[in-house]
Amino acid sequence: MKPDPKEQFAALRQRYAAQLAERVAAILSAWQHLEQSQWDKSVGLEVRQLVHKLAGSAAMFGFADLGAVAHEIDLGLQTWLEHDHLPDIVTRQHLAHHVTLLQRMVHKDQPLTTETPPADPSQLSVTASSAPTAPAAKHAPTVASVTPELEQSIPRETNKLPRTIILVEDDREYANTLTEQLRLFNYDTHLITDLEGLPTLVRAINPAAIIMDIVFPSGDLAGVEAIATLQRERTAPVPVIYISQRDDFAARLAAVRSGGHAYFAKPVDAGQLINALDRLTGSEETIPLRVLIVDDDPDFGNRCVHDLEIAGIHARAITDPRETLDYLQIFRPDLLILDMYMPICSGKELASIIRQQDRYVGMPIVFLSAETNRTQQQAALSLGADDFLAKPISPPDLVAAISARAVRARYLQRFLLRDSLTGLLNHQAVEEELAREFARAERLQQPLSIAIIDIDHFKRVNDSYGHLIGDQVLRSFARLLQQRLRQSDLIGRHGGEEFLVALPNTSLIEARTLIDSLRSSFAALQHYGPNGMFRVTFSAGIAGYPQHRSQIGVMQAADAALYQAKRNGRNRVTVDAHRDDLPTFVLSTTKDTATTKTETIRRALIISTNGIQRRLLRQALSEQGFMYDMINDVEHALKYESPIPPNLILVDMTQIEGTHTAKLVQLREYFTNAHIVTIAPATAEPRAATTVAFGADDYLLVPLAAGALQALLDRLAASERSN
Ligand code: GH3
Ligand code: MG
Ligand code: MG
Repeated sequence: MKPDPKEQFAALRQRYAAQLAERVAAILSAWQHLEQSQWDKSVGLEVRQLVHKLAGSAAMFGFADLGAVAHEIDLGLQTWLEHDHLPDIVTRQHLAHHVTLLQRMVHKDQPLTTETPPADPSQLSVTASSAPTAPAAKHAPTVASVTPELEQSIPRETNKLPRTIILVEDDREYANTLTEQLRLFNYDTHLITDLEGLPTLVRAINPAAIIMDIVFPSGDLAGVEAIATLQRERTAPVPVIYISQRDDFAARLAAVRSGGHAYFAKPVDAGQLINALDRLTGSEETIPLRVLIVDDDPDFGNRCVHDLEIAGIHARAITDPRETLDYLQIFRPDLLILDMYMPICSGKELASIIRQQDRYVGMPIVFLSAETNRTQQQAALSLGADDFLAKPISPPDLVAAISARAVRARYLQRFLLRDSLTGLLNHQAVEEELAREFARAERLQQPLSIAIIDIDHFKRVNDSYGHLIGDQVLRSFARLLQQRLRQSDLIGRHGGEEFLVALPNTSLIEARTLIDSLRSSFAALQHYGPNGMFRVTFSAGIAGYPQHRSQIGVMQAADAALYQAKRNGRNRVTVDAHRDDLPTFVLSTTKDTATTKTETIRRALIISTNGIQRRLLRQALSEQGFMYDMINDVEHALKYESPIPPNLILVDMTQIEGTHTAKLVQLREYFTNAHIVTIAPATAEPRAATTVAFGADDYLLVPLAAGALQALLDRLAASERSN
């Protein structure tokens, strides 16, 4: 089996860490030699070579601080060696000090406290002294030796710290309700009911924001005036959100002039208020950009890593182009830098390989090469590279060229991976992430809990208050999830009003406690419709690894648990009563094919990107004791491999209609023993029927009418018998 590149990297890193002391000792010895030789140039060159190598490689293995010190020495020597300018006594002392600093950094008891945490959240955090099994936490180690045990004992509730805000509101009852709502989103509220104490309180607690009423007994614009005075006295203004029963132009203008950042007319929708607060208090996290460099010259790669890391960009360099695909998966860079000429394969070829994969279409590829031939450059660009930078390149130029592109790519990527309504991962992204989490849980032998959450009677919300209000409820719910879960937790909108949460290293019991507290928070949350306030609840099903050993198994179990929760009255969390992943059916053993053929169909493959469709089908299939798998499109289905081939293929009509009719034939050829059934909305029955004329075995209309799946299976079985 191919070694896991992540583990490979961890091992490399450990080996590197083990050699650090030796490398630094060599530098020290060369340095002493330099001083003894009265700054002999040839000795200087020797020192520089050593520090230069260290500067390049240290950052690559996560010892950015150490690398920075080495870099500093390198620069000091460079001036001397390249410009023949013997450093003065102060500079020499400065350099000597840095050499000592290197010594100290590696000989501390915890020599690696200075390391930058590994860039990849899923990257193992490795220390020189401990085995490479400590899972990285985002809130992570300032102390290097976080043991796996310690990590696990971090209670689940150590989420983000609450942010403090001041609420100035003279309607006490309203204020209390609002405070309650804000608490659900992790905002700690200081309430004051008059304007007098405001300046003192602001100085005392330095709030992340102020929520301010406008009308007070002292005047119809008293709130605005108080803020204007307050802001005048400050160097940096406090973010202010006004909430008021006044909704007239004069009030809004006064609010803007006083430096208000947002204005909501009462009644205020908590969800919108939270959105504004999040924006103003900057709680939208910023994750460093990541760049992967593929260059056969390790020194050059390390140099780039070093320059980029110093600029706050996480970078990795590899020298073997064949490792690129693995690294794209593990390191998940925002941008790729490729050398043009490498052994094994050229940069151009590598770019083509990458561009041929859908998932990387959005990733910028930049060539960095000594190639000066314009035609060659053009040829590279025509293959889908985004830019061509000439070697040598100065660090500031490199950083500038790279970061602008990477930022933009990340921004665009958001649209591909994120659901536009809620900003959560979309269906496809969440399934991909989940596969990763699953593999990780298996490798680290840690529990993984998954919750499928579905809003109760959401149709009624839409019917009673309209789709827009319905959307707002979904957004509020998404916010609640983001606020209350950890950064390492996976949160996605699985489709419609169904959400998926994956909690790494969390047992079923912990997961239940957590999701249930979310449930009661959500149930307490007030939403505003045209006719006033209303509340909404959700139901959730939880299942996990290792109770179930496959991702599909866990998903099916969570789905079944959710179904149970709905059946038992909604507004509740149900945990799967794990029957150790026994398939819900007995596999047909390898009897002779003649008999197997007449057996009922038991394994299905759903080909669809439509979340609601998938969900409805999954539920119906589960109830019929099916194992199922899901895949986005026919292209991928044609590469689908499974030890037990599916015997029922359910394919979304839009993927096989019209110009795509040929795909039906391809499916038929690939899945020789399967029935192929078209899925279509009930309104498109005539079109669905047409697909049968082109080679589908049957069609199924969604939402499914009662007994529709059973009826289909009966029809298929009957047609088999008659064959
Ligand atoms: P249950 O408690 O059984 O889950 O009932 P339900 O009404 O929530 O479930 P059902 O699946 O019958 O209806 C889900 C509704 O969610 C139907 C659909 O119109 C609505 N929905 C799906 N996506 C969106 C969306 O993006 N915005 C809005 N406003 N509604 C949506
Ligand atoms: Mg539903
Ligand atoms: Mg629902």
